[in-house]
Amino acid sequence: MAGIILSGITKSFGPAQVIHGVDLQIAEGELMVFVGPSGCGKSTLLRLIAGLDRPSTGTIALDGRDVTALPASDRGLAMVFQSYALYPHMTVRQNLSFGLQNIRMDKAEIAARVAEAGRLLEIEGLMDRRPTQLSGGQRQRVAIGRAIVREPSAFLLDEPLSNLDAELRGTMRAEISGLHARLGATMIYVTHDQTEAMTLADRIAVMRAGRIEQVATPLELYNHPANLFVAGFIGAPN
Ligand code: ADP
Ligand code: MG
Repeated sequence: MAGIILSGITKSFGPAQVIHGVDLQIAEGELMVFVGPSGCGKSTLLRLIAGLDRPSTGTIALDGRDVTALPASDRGLAMVFQSYALYPHMTVRQNLSFGLQNIRMDKAEIAARVAEAGRLLEIEGLMDRRPTQLSGGQRQRVAIGRAIVREPSAFLLDEPLSNLDAELRGTMRAEISGLHARLGATMIYVTHDQTEAMTLADRIAVMRAGRIEQVATPLELYNHPANLFVAGFIGAPN
C-alpha cells in the first residue's frame, strides 16, 4: 500500500516513554489529523515520521519504502511548524525559492514552482514584500508555500494555525482544506483543537498519553466514540 505505515512505534527520552506502541496506516492522499491534549505525544510522533528523530522501536514506511533509518532530507516530506520562521531579510519570492537553490535546481524550474505555489496560495501579489510587510495569515501562507515548492510526497503540519487569531484560523482552515483538495497530497495535521480536527480530517487519530485511542472519520468518532476519553475530548468545547 502506498502512503504512510507506522508499525509498533515506541519512543523514549531517557527513562521516560512518551510513545507506547503506535500502529497506523495513512492512505495516499488522505488528510489524517492527530488530535489530543497537550503533551500526549503528537509532535513527537510527527517528528519521528519526518525523520527529525528516530523511534526507539518500530518501523516507518513511506510509499512502500522502509525509511526508519533514513534522515529527514531523504524522505521527500515537508514539515510546516507553528512558528513560521521566514527569513526576515528576504522577499516572499526569495523565501519560497531559497530551499530549492540549496538543492541546486535550475532557475527556470525554481521560478515555475514558486509561481505555481503563489497561484495555489493566492499570494502572487505579495512576491516582492518582506515578512514584516505581511499579515499573520499571509506569513503562514508563505510558510506553507515553502513546503509546496518542494513537491513533497506528504505534508506534515504541526499546529500550523495556533498562533493566529480565531477568525483567521477559520479562514486558514478552509484554505488548507481547499489546498488539500487541489494538491491531492497526503497530509498529517496535528492539532489540540477538536473543531479543527473535526472540520479538516478525512480521518482522525485521537491520542492520549502516547497511545492512539481511536482512528476513525469525524462522523464515526462523533457517533461511535470508542471510550469516554474520546467522547469527552471530541464533545468538549475549546
Ligand atoms: P504534544 O505535541 O502532544 O503536546 P509532545 O510530543 O511535544 O506532545 O510531548 C510528549 C511528551 O514527550 C511530553 O511529556 C514532553 O515533555 C516529552 N518530550 C518531547 N520531546 C522531548 C525531548 N526531546 N526530551 C524529553 N522529553 C520530551
Ligand atoms: Mg506539539
